[in-house]
Amino acid sequence: MLTVRDYAEVNPVFARPGEPVAAPRNQMPDAGLLPETAYQLVHDESMLDGNARLNLATFVGTWMDDYADRLYAEAFDKNAIDKDEYPQTAAMEQYCWRMLADLWHAPNPANSIGTSTTGSSEACMLGGLALKRRWRQRREAAGLPTDRPNLVMSSGVQVCWEKFCNYWDVEARQVPISLDHKVLDGSDLEKYCDENTIGVVAIMGVTYTGMYEPVDQIAAALDRIQLQTGLDIPIHVDGASGAMIAPFCQPDLLWDFRLPRVASINTSGHKYGLVYPGLGWVVWRDQSLLPDDLIFRVSYLGGDMPTFALNFSRPGAQILLQYYMFLRLGRAGYTRVQQGSLDVAHYLAQSIASLGPFDLWNDGSDIPVFAWYIKPDAGRSWTLYDVSDRLRMRGWQVPAYPMPDSLQELTVQRIVVRNGVSMDLADRLIADLSAAVAYLDSVGAPTGPGANPAGRKSFHH
Ligand SMILES: *Cc1c(COP(=O)(O)O)cnc(C)c1O
Repeated sequence: MLTVRDYAEVNPVFARPGEPVAAPRNQMPDAGLLPETAYQLVHDESMLDGNARLNLATFVGTWMDDYADRLYAEAFDKNAIDKDEYPQTAAMEQYCWRMLADLWHAPNPANSIGTSTTGSSEACMLGGLALKRRWRQRREAAGLPTDRPNLVMSSGVQVCWEKFCNYWDVEARQVPISLDHKVLDGSDLEKYCDENTIGVVAIMGVTYTGMYEPVDQIAAALDRIQLQTGLDIPIHVDGASGAMIAPFCQPDLLWDFRLPRVASINTSGHKYGLVYPGLGWVVWRDQSLLPDDLIFRVSYLGGDMPTFALNFSRPGAQILLQYYMFLRLGRAGYTRVQQGSLDVAHYLAQSIASLGPFDLWNDGSDIPVFAWYIKPDAGRSWTLYDVSDRLRMRGWQVPAYPMPDSLQELTVQRIVVRNGVSMDLADRLIADLSAAVAYLDSVGAPTGPGANPAGRKSFHH
């Protein structure tokens, strides 16, 4: 086992006379360093982080233009919670979620309510909490027990929903995905829903594969359940990615507030909202769906500010960046950018399908994300983990991982196309991928047949 030094050596070129030449890693140093030296140490260490542009694993924005960078630099000291000191940041936050309410066809955006968050995870927690509280109020009003809430979702949910259920004592009822039902599609839903169901989560852009769940079919199944049982079960749409793709590129798809059963929708500003990390949004169809007793009125910063959030202080700059992007691109610009990503995803998917050994799980036509697996009869001794390793040697991060519980024996590999993955880069990736396949075919399996190398963490967020 290699030991890692517990101090960083300061290169003599950088150290100034009298400065320490080693910086401890696990204890706060006794004396400080000159800013130049400290900068160099941190800068050099971060050099070993990956190259964000070649990271095809993440959904999160890694590039904004110079004017955005300028705004960011002007605003990085703003605290989003301090709505009295920064009333215009608060106003811009409101412009943004109102625009989203309108984009998602809220019947009356002026009656909607929304907030920014640190990301979709926090936004989902808030959406889930509102469902839970409303269910509890209904049950209490009817004199019924409130000790066993459950939330129905696909087994392909993002981890934030498992966290929500774990942290807030809600039973997670997962409908297993299968080769016949690749997403939650409403079939068998009556077996999972009962009087204790606080809601159903529908995902617009499943993290594992990028596929949309048919929210209209899920809503229709819940309509049937209501007819049969009287249970009126709301939907929260997890649109972390898709809520910023569908309005532009699939405008006729029925997934949003046009479906009366959809109570709330979240998205990640830092995914296809095209903003740097640290921003999410959640919007409720109308104010009655967000129980007032979840809202805190904070007065000690001056004024009386309603807030619904898990965090208190958090950066406000991303809110300005989102508003900048909405102004800068408009609907036409978002449509061009997202369609560009869809075109690249489509091209990559078709190219990968034509290489021979792979079958596509989906083709990247929902959000610009798709997954593939090795054909069961491909007769290959290598695995997708080997492919991932070969690509990593060329700098690409293209993760391979097992599908969720119900389909765990199936390993897939996934590409997330984001703004900045150009056709040029796509060509290079395909060249490297086909060279990797040729190499693996010639040498066999470095990790042994079917191996998921021990200790390897599957990485898909
Ligand atoms: C990424 C993602 C999340 C979590 O979003 P963050 O913004 O990273 O917190 C939740 N749900 C889905 C479907 C996602 O893709």
